[in-house]
Amino acid sequence: MGNIIDANHHSSVNAMYLDILVIGAGAIGLSSALHLKRLNPEKSVMVVDMLGGPGQGNTAKCAGIFLNLATTELNFGLSDSTIDWFHHLQGDLGHNLGLTPYGYLYLLDKDRYEKVKKPIEEARSVGVDIKTYEKNEVERLLPDLATRFGEEETELMGLKPVEVGVLTEKCGSIDADGLTRSLEVEFLKLGGEVSYNTTAESLIVKPRNEIGIEGEPFVWQDIHITGAETSKGEIQAGTTVVAAGTWSERLLDPIGFDTLMRPKSRSIFVFKDPKLDRLRDTRGFSKVDLLPFTHIPEISVYLKVEPSEGSIWLGCADDFGRRYGLEDDPQPERGLYEDDIYHALMKYLPCFKDLRPLNSWTGQRAMNRLDKTPVIAPAPGMIYVGSATGYGVTKCDALGRTVAAAYAGEEEAELYGGRRIRVADIGIENRKKVKETFKV
Ligand SMILES: Cc1cc2nc3c(=O)[nH]c(=O)nc-3n(C[C@H](O)[C@H](O)[C@H](O)COP(=O)(O)OP(=O)(O)OC[C@H]3O[C@@H](n4cnc5c(N)ncnc54)[C@H](O)[C@@H]3O)c2cc1C
Repeated sequence: MGNIIDANHHSSVNAMYLDILVIGAGAIGLSSALHLKRLNPEKSVMVVDMLGGPGQGNTAKCAGIFLNLATTELNFGLSDSTIDWFHHLQGDLGHNLGLTPYGYLYLLDKDRYEKVKKPIEEARSVGVDIKTYEKNEVERLLPDLATRFGEEETELMGLKPVEVGVLTEKCGSIDADGLTRSLEVEFLKLGGEVSYNTTAESLIVKPRNEIGIEGEPFVWQDIHITGAETSKGEIQAGTTVVAAGTWSERLLDPIGFDTLMRPKSRSIFVFKDPKLDRLRDTRGFSKVDLLPFTHIPEISVYLKVEPSEGSIWLGCADDFGRRYGLEDDPQPERGLYEDDIYHALMKYLPCFKDLRPLNSWTGQRAMNRLDKTPVIAPAPGMIYVGSATGYGVTKCDALGRTVAAAYAGEEEAELYGGRRIRVADIGIENRKKVKETFKV
């Protein structure tokens, strides 16, 4: 290895050589780095990030929900094994991830419930624990939920009352910051290195056999990625892992690599008010006396109790109608809560009457528009990982292990707990055709 940056890392890099360079210190980049170093202890592995610490990109802006609801074995395996790993990180390795397993509750009207009956059976058949609650049970457990409509206004708005609750049990809240910090600690313990405030400006493309003529690489030469030009100098690497989340396109578009991904914004609004205490402290759905993560697809809204601060986060889960496009500093759309969400939310949860958010932010999700399943795709000298479509935290450990298997050239990756998946199944060339059918 050439010039090493120490763990607190702001010195300059002069034509450093590494075995593995990971670009991006989000949940996925750090998981990848951890498993690459674990399985290749003799190799030099460094993570660089343009921001000042671990997990400050979209991981910091996420809702921090883990969820194993999937109708395909592939997606179930990716998330279920990662959830087990979170419990190991917290329970056995002593990291504080703030794991709060309060479940994931869908509140569905009659028509939507009819549509998801079959997918619910498919999800059960791959191993997901799902409970359903009849209307009267939902009403008993959630006295704040209005379930009797019939006024002219709700009819005009086309809103239908909740008839059924569907609870997925092995789900809950995680402190995303605690997660990325713990991954960084485990990675550094193994001798990995990190360099923050270091932007990868471009990937270096070189011919495999350089002949020393100006203008290389020529079209007839075999090319590969040999590292990155960064804000602190050139870093040469045997393998470059691009885990730059929604920003990956900035590095990969110039080299003609398609990630099957486009960025899309999503906002979260934070509420804390005594009027919401009863809703927050809902009992009876899980062993945790808190409202489960609750999604009302009829109005594209979800609610998450943040256990560390006793607040309720409200997210807007709409998709169609929202534009694609990378933004460095996305902001909540003006009036999205006050002029839009609020009026429909009030019909279902009148306890929000007159409440305004204390805080809000917007992040971007890396949407795989093809099949909503993550992508791990090798190319000469590099591996891309991402396109996790809003489930990057929930699947981070399984993705990290699969990146390490791809690096080793293995056909299969062993996930935490012993399940195996075929690496090519989430690649691009020989991707397995998977279609998640649970759509609400
Ligand atoms: C509002 C919202 C709610 C969400 N809720 C959930 C949820 O509840 N559960 C869940 O599982 N997922 C959720 N997600 C999705 C989740 O945030 C992502 O899937 C996950 O964070 C992806 O991790 P990542 O490591 O790929 O990306 P990031 O955390 O964005 O990491 C990429 C890193 O790369 C760095 N980087 C980018 N370009 C460069 C460069 N050129 N040089 C150096 N560094 C670079 C960035 O600074 C960043 O730190 C949500 C997303 C949003 C926006």
